Amino acid sequence: MLEKKGNFNMERVIQEFDEVTRNASRVQRETLKKILEENGDTEYLQGLGLRGRTDIDSFRACVPLVTHHDLEPYIQRIADGDTAPILTRKPVTSISLSSGTTQGKPKYIVFNEELVHNTMQIYRISYAFRNREFPTEKGKALQFIYGSKQFETKGGLTATTATTNVYRSHQFKSTMRDIQSQCTSPDEVIFGSDFLQSLYCHLLCGLLYADQVQFVSATFAHSIVVAFQSFEKDWEELCRDIKTGVLSSRITNPNIRNAVSAILRPDPELADSIYRKCEGLSNWYGVIPELWTNAKYVYGIMTGSMEHYTRKLRHYAGRLPLVCAEYGSSEGWIGANVDPLTPPDSATFVVLPDIGFFEFIPLRGMDGCEHAEPIGLTEVQVGEEYEIIITTFAGLYRYRLGDVVRVEGFYNSTPRLKFICRRNLILSINIDKNTEKDLQLAVDEATKLLLAEKKLDLLDFTSYADMVSDPGHYVIFWELNADAKDEVLQSCCDCMDRTFVDPGYVGSRRIGTIGPLELKVVERGTFRKVLYHFLSRGTSVGQFKTPRCVGPANRAVLEILNEHVIKRFFSMTYY
Ligand code: AMP
Repeated sequence: MLEKKGNFNMERVIQEFDEVTRNASRVQRETLKKILEENGDTEYLQGLGLRGRTDIDSFRACVPLVTHHDLEPYIQRIADGDTAPILTRKPVTSISLSSGTTQGKPKYIVFNEELVHNTMQIYRISYAFRNREFPTEKGKALQFIYGSKQFETKGGLTATTATTNVYRSHQFKSTMRDIQSQCTSPDEVIFGSDFLQSLYCHLLCGLLYADQVQFVSATFAHSIVVAFQSFEKDWEELCRDIKTGVLSSRITNPNIRNAVSAILRPDPELADSIYRKCEGLSNWYGVIPELWTNAKYVYGIMTGSMEHYTRKLRHYAGRLPLVCAEYGSSEGWIGANVDPLTPPDSATFVVLPDIGFFEFIPLRGMDGCEHAEPIGLTEVQVGEEYEIIITTFAGLYRYRLGDVVRVEGFYNSTPRLKFICRRNLILSINIDKNTEKDLQLAVDEATKLLLAEKKLDLLDFTSYADMVSDPGHYVIFWELNADAKDEVLQSCCDCMDRTFVDPGYVGSRRIGTIGPLELKVVERGTFRKVLYHFLSRGTSVGQFKTPRCVGPANRAVLEILNEHVIKRFFSMTYY
């Protein structure tokens, strides 16, 4: 019998997905044709001489690979009010701001109805696969999601984050209802202007509807960790609110107050039961299943730069599985996680062949093949690494997304990708090259030494290539949950220096053209300040990713970090 709940038919969604992934090569050709038929007469494509051709060879011959920088003038004209079909025939409904944590400032990206449609498509697919493993009942989700600030561009378009554009769309609510993922909080909480007030109320509403909660989620794992770190501090106040039925005076935003007060009733029994459960926990281990007894899993993006938070998340999740969410970006979606049982460190994403046209630049060790020609979706090889190029229904043609992925296998005839890192080299002083992944490996190695000490953990980290000192050197900032002995930190610092094994780095360290790696330990709460800094500039909490390297454009972040340094260590590895 087909599994059908409301407007959602799990088996049909899986069948359709199987069908397109089986015929990935044909579907890719047809998808490109459709994109070009729809948008061939836009100014951008007209200027490239395609003259109505929609086949892959002509497309590759005429259309150059581009980065966001190349498209900026076109997008700026759209933002300034030019309504001619510049990049897409369908009207641009708003501008999305990418999180901007890599570049230091948000990028403008065009947003239209196609992106909403694609988002609902991928939500349904990944829910279908999740639901097959972890069937949910009729219910809701405790979702730590936040709309972000918005403003009007010169041409009158709303500019906000892509996730906010999605949350505000008509289709979002109905899809969430269909897939039992309706947020436990009212819209006023999701779109509240004060992050801390919204967070408090998400927790409160989640507790009020605890029986109905089927899973706990956020776009990025970081938001769930931030939420439960706040819960550790605020749980007694939350219990008081539930006991008395009166919302804490900390909620001053009238819209949030009214909306949450409307659902809050005195419930001493619930309050006491939460209180007792919290008191019985050891260091908050397993708080999620303890309080949300019907939750089946914890869900969100846990790969890439989010991997660091999975240890903490596992602690809060206790016996509940961590399920990785989709792979995509403000620019467009890429793949769904169809193996929800796979743990975050080995999660892969199956590319959706009808969501866009995909090409891959072979990287082979990230050097050497700089000028290799991109290949098609079904031509990629298992075990190889590639940079992804996307062509979308939303005005991006052969766009270098800047992500590196590895092909781990195939699902039918479409590849399963593992996210590796952002392509940009992040740490480099001279001939050395280290990526986000290399940094993660070094930090992971050193963290093992930290974890060997009781109750010590690394809460967050970032890095910086200090070119001002002579010779230049790598600086790694760490925020810890508790004080650590100097000997331990010194050995962590030495360990990180040793773990960067790139020959350019090792050689330069040996001859002294790169100085000893520096570990700077910052005060507790410093990375919260970095988060607030990004929020003040329009980034939404939901899309926030701690920048793993602070580039020169991020001077303000560097200042925040340096102002809160409490200890410094220099590596003694190469003496
Ligand atoms: P944004 O600019 O905020 O739209 O962020 C998009 C970027 O986040 C992508 O290009 C990736 O680098 C990263 N990202 C998105 N989804 C995932 C995922 N599932 N795993 C790892 N990284 C991801």
